[in-house]
Parts: sequence; structure tokens; C-alpha cells
Amino acid sequence: MPQIPGKSIVLTSDTTMMSNYHGGVMLGFAAIMPRAALPNWIFDNLFCPPVPAAPDGSAEIAPCGIRKVEAALLEAGFARDEVTVAHPDHLDKAIGPNTRIVGITHDDPMGKIAVREVEDIIGRGPPFNRSRFLELLSHPLIKEHRPRVVIGGNGAWEVIGEDVKVDHIYLGEAESDFPDVCRKIIGGDSVPPVVRGRAVAGEDIPVNRGATVGGIVEIGRGCWRGCAFCSPANRTLRHRPLPKILDDVSVNLQSGQKDIILHSEDFFSYGYHEGKADGKRILEMVSAVKKLGPKTIDVSHLSLASVHQNQELLRAVSQIVGVGRDQNHMSAWIGIETGSCRILKMHMPNKARPAKIENWPEIVRDCYHLFAEESWLPVASLVLGLPGETRDDVIKTTNLVESLMDYTGLMLPLFFTTIADTKLGKRRGFARQDALPEHWQLVGLCLEYNLRHLKKLHRFYRERMTAGPAIHAALQGVNLMADLVLGKYMKRMKRGEPPN
Ligand code: SF4
Repeated sequence: MPQIPGKSIVLTSDTTMMSNYHGGVMLGFAAIMPRAALPNWIFDNLFCPPVPAAPDGSAEIAPCGIRKVEAALLEAGFARDEVTVAHPDHLDKAIGPNTRIVGITHDDPMGKIAVREVEDIIGRGPPFNRSRFLELLSHPLIKEHRPRVVIGGNGAWEVIGEDVKVDHIYLGEAESDFPDVCRKIIGGDSVPPVVRGRAVAGEDIPVNRGATVGGIVEIGRGCWRGCAFCSPANRTLRHRPLPKILDDVSVNLQSGQKDIILHSEDFFSYGYHEGKADGKRILEMVSAVKKLGPKTIDVSHLSLASVHQNQELLRAVSQIVGVGRDQNHMSAWIGIETGSCRILKMHMPNKARPAKIENWPEIVRDCYHLFAEESWLPVASLVLGLPGETRDDVIKTTNLVESLMDYTGLMLPLFFTTIADTKLGKRRGFARQDALPEHWQLVGLCLEYNLRHLKKLHRFYRERMTAGPAIHAALQGVNLMADLVLGKYMKRMKRGEPPN
């Protein structure tokens, strides 16, 4: 093949990020599995099939973060011809001698989010996401043309201190400073190894130029609750004006995406002022999105405290979206984190606001009851091993999870991981050797919960999925296998023993 000159700025990511996951974004979790656990062809066909590529090698669908970087560069004056969002399997059509920058956006490049639990449970080595990211860094065209490699996105912090072939780590928001960083690199000026991008105002978050993975549309950024382990906690709460949100929805629908996920750290804080959600603006937004005609609408994240404070608003959103009429359910990520009010006070003092921290377990249970009534499926995270956590705190979390066992959803027990630039950024992360028998019992209980609900979740998610019957049959097979393979680990952990 004749050598192409290459685009000046190539934006891309590895195949664990550049996938539409058959329309079921939950399948993306598979990227944390050990690579040795599955042959590549099964992983790629069942869980992370690559996004479609255009004839010029660009990706027809890309993660929302990459789309924002692309839009920011174009709005900052770079020409369309200089910037491309490249498909990772077609980098030969994007990278050449003229390429100066390869910008990689990633949520979990080193697999640090959940890898230690998974490695401990399955014990089969590095996960797919880390392996694929390192492979991308070693791409022969990057080695040959030696563009500057910049890593950005939510997981860029994971690369700090790691011995990987990255020239610059870009933390924070791209719209503010990334165009300038690119100009400096192209102009031969020096750029520090770690760059911290400033936050931009909600109205300055640009409209995407192409479809996003999962049909994700940003409605706002940041969170005011300030949990000590969380990085959105560092970002001021801002929201985007409705016309820009609708433009992003339209770009997705015109590019063939049918399902839309409205993304922020807490859907019910859209338009938040004076300690309250702006119900009128939220309902206006949902109605306007609905009028554009997506097949389904979801929200990405919810704060349980906001849900609890706005129960009638959630019911009104369900009504407009048409849950039970036009789509069988809605789903959202939520953070339970702990069942211990003591741990909440230490590390998440605003988590329950405006309710009292002492009511946290009740708030969680009330929300699950509401979710069940309104057919909203919660994907919940727990954080195990936060500094100062005792046996008694873990038992409280276990009791809370036990009280939720019959509600459909997913429960993800994550070991506390140190994220740079957070309040707990200098503390040591939680590891297998720190785990008490009570921690293993809690992880075992979460595994039991997930195995109990996985088949139902698959049935619910089918309405969003683009996969054919063969893939669905294979996924049902994987569900059955998971019962068999993980069942023995679950029993061991429920006895308070490590999984292996
Ligand atoms: S409520 Fe969620 S997003 Fe906000 S700071 Fe806490 S963990 Fe982070």
C-alpha cells in the first residue's frame, strides 16, 4: 500500500473503547476480564465488536470524550483536513510522516478500576483493556513516525508513574487547553509531561461532529457533593444549554444511533440551584429529546439523594420517556458506596444531602423500591476498603445489600483505588492482603446478586441491542457458564475465604 502523508492530529483509542458494544454498553465491562480468560475472537465478537469504519479509515462512532476533543480542535481553528478520529484497525489511513500528535482518550487504560478484584478472583493475568492500550502504544506506525503521544480522558491519571510510551498526560477538560497544547507541539515548543486542562463553562462544551458510543450526550459536568475518593468531585457543577444538548442528540440520530443516554454525574442536578433540582428544566429537556424520536432514552448517572428528594420528578420523567409503553425500562449508574453512615461521614459528608446521613440505608432502600415501581434498573457501585473502614462498617454494607437482593440490577464491589488529584489521592489503595473475611463475604454476596439478575438484565437490554440471534444465544451461553465458573468462587467468598 502506498504511504499516506497522514493527518496532523490523529485522535483514537483502543478497541475496548472504540466499540458500540452491540448497543448494550454494559458489555463494555468485559474489558476488565483477564485477556487469558477468553480468545480474542470471542471477546471481539461477543463483547467489544469494533465500531464501523468509514472508507477514509475514520471511526463512524467514537466515545463522547473523543468527539468533544475533535469538536474543540475544529472550533479552535484547526482545519477538518488536519484532524481525524481514526479507527484503531485502520491507523494506516491516518498516521503517516505528517502526523505530529496521536491523542488517545481512555477511561481505564491500565485497568486500574476493577482489576485487582478480578485478578484476585480469576487470577489469569492482565485485563483486555490494559493489553489493548499497550498494544496501541506499540503500533508500528507510531514507532515509525514518532508522533507525540498524548493520553487524555477520565482514566489518564492511571498512566502517571507508569513505564509506558506516552509523551504527555493530559488531565482535565480538553476544550480549554488542548488546542493550545497541540499548537505548541506542532510549533516545536516545549510542553510539560503532565498538563492540567481547566474546566470550561457549560455553554462552551461544543456540539459533537459525529455519533457517540451508546448515543451518549453530555448534559453537564461536575458534582458538588465532593466525595473524597472521586475525581468528578474536583469539578465545578455546570450544565449545558438545551439547544446544544438537542444538537448532540440530532447528530447521533442523523448518524444512525437510535438510543440516547443523557450523561452527567447526576441527572437530577440539571439546572440545580438553591439546593434544588430544576424540575421544569429537566422535564423540558426530556420532552424535547423525546420529540426528536430516539428509540430509547436513558440517563447515565443518578445521585440517590437527588432521586430520594425528587421522587415525583422521576415518575414524571418515566411518563414522558414512555417506560412500559415505548421502552421496557430505563437504566442508570448509582453510587451506594457503603452501608455505614460512619464511613459516609468520614469520606462523603454530602452524599445524602439534603437528607440526614443517618438515613442513608433507608434512602437507598426507598430508591430501590421506587426504581422497581418505575422499571428503572440500577447499576450500583460499592467502595470497599476506604481508609478507616472496620469490620462493623463492612457488615453494615452487607446488611444493606442483603436487603436489596430481590431488586433487579447489578452491584459492583470496587476496591478503593487511589485516584491522583482527589482528597484521598495520597492514600494507599485497598488490596487483597488487606481484605477481612467480611470483605470477601460482601464480594461473594454481590456476585450472588449479579448472577441472580444477569439473565433478566440481558432480556431487558435486548431492546437496545443491535446483535443478531447468534450473539444473543452465545451471550445466554456465557451467562450459564458464569453460573458454573463463578459459583464456586461465590460459595468460597460467602464463607469469608479469599476466592483462590
Ligand atoms: S456523588 Fe458521585 S460523582 Fe459526586 S462526588 Fe460523590 S462519588 Fe463523585
